Amino acid sequence: MFSYRHAFHAGNHADVLKHTCLIALMKYLTQKDTALTVIDTHAGAGLYRLDGDYTETSGEASEGIFKLILASKLPPSPAARAATPAKKAMPATPAAAASDAAYAWAPALLDYLDLLRGLNPHFAQTGDPAHLKIYPGSPFISQKFLSGRDKLKLFELHPTDFKSLTGNIEQLGVGRQVTVAREDGFEALKTFLPPPARRAMVLCDPSYEMKSDYARVAACMGDAVKRFATGTYVVWYPIIPRPEAHDLPRKLKTLAVKAHRPWLHATLTVKSSKLTTDAEGEVVRPGLPASGMFIINPPHTLKAELNAALPQMVALLGQDRNAGFTLEHGG
Ligand code: SAM
Repeated sequence: MFSYRHAFHAGNHADVLKHTCLIALMKYLTQKDTALTVIDTHAGAGLYRLDGDYTETSGEASEGIFKLILASKLPPSPAARAATPAKKAMPATPAAAASDAAYAWAPALLDYLDLLRGLNPHFAQTGDPAHLKIYPGSPFISQKFLSGRDKLKLFELHPTDFKSLTGNIEQLGVGRQVTVAREDGFEALKTFLPPPARRAMVLCDPSYEMKSDYARVAACMGDAVKRFATGTYVVWYPIIPRPEAHDLPRKLKTLAVKAHRPWLHATLTVKSSKLTTDAEGEVVRPGLPASGMFIINPPHTLKAELNAALPQMVALLGQDRNAGFTLEHGG
């Protein structure tokens, strides 16, 4: 426990998938007049430096957000877009995308890029990836969409990340609208459901550092749906060669079907999961090849958003012919 630090992984392809989904969800759910409670059971540090020691060590952002930006010409800024909206469809391959500046990014990916631009003004001005230095974690992404009546509850167990998260949130100066607790997010969730205004979104994004996390996610979501059937429940999971990882989406689907709740399941694969050997004959592990998002009670708009964004993620982030996506839904 506690060897996982999200800073090593910030901005990787799994974050691109997760955070693009999160933005689409938050954008939709905060449009209504009734207060929304957002509960982030595994919050991380909130903000990450893409030029810091951790991210440089693993370089995972180079297979995620940096690849997304470098594999294509960036669409114009929001102000420029308002003046001359792009109309063309995005080319299918990164090479074609790179030679064509005017294609249309999927709205969800464009919102993700604009959020990064908002946090990195120098990057927004120049489009130079070298100036993309701050990467938002889920707490900062959710917070961006809140209005005065909404609440955000954050849980983080790691002592260092909890301290960073607390400091980062304090700097926002949003008072009690956002609370941070060093508690087990799986357990804490129970005390917040059902929420006062009966509207909630729960993001459950553990590190899966311990094998037991897979079973805890399924149990926690089952309990949450019983307590508050109409909440939107969002689970990220890694797709790795481990039976628990394959079972988790099946278990979530079963629980959604049994509870008669609609569900949506999206996966993004960027490369093969096979082990390879290097020039010296050493076995090389591929790193995380794929991940998935399982959403119970998704907004009706999410499928179309992801249908547009996922092929673009594959075109821009795919590393070999195993790259691809799936998108299924039911209920
Ligand atoms: N949701 C974050 C984001 O998208 O920016 C990333 C979270 S990271 C994948 C998982 C985090 O959960 C780690 O920071 C880890 O320390 C924390 N953690 C692990 N077990 C936990 C638990 N039982 N309750 C709360 N946090 C936990």
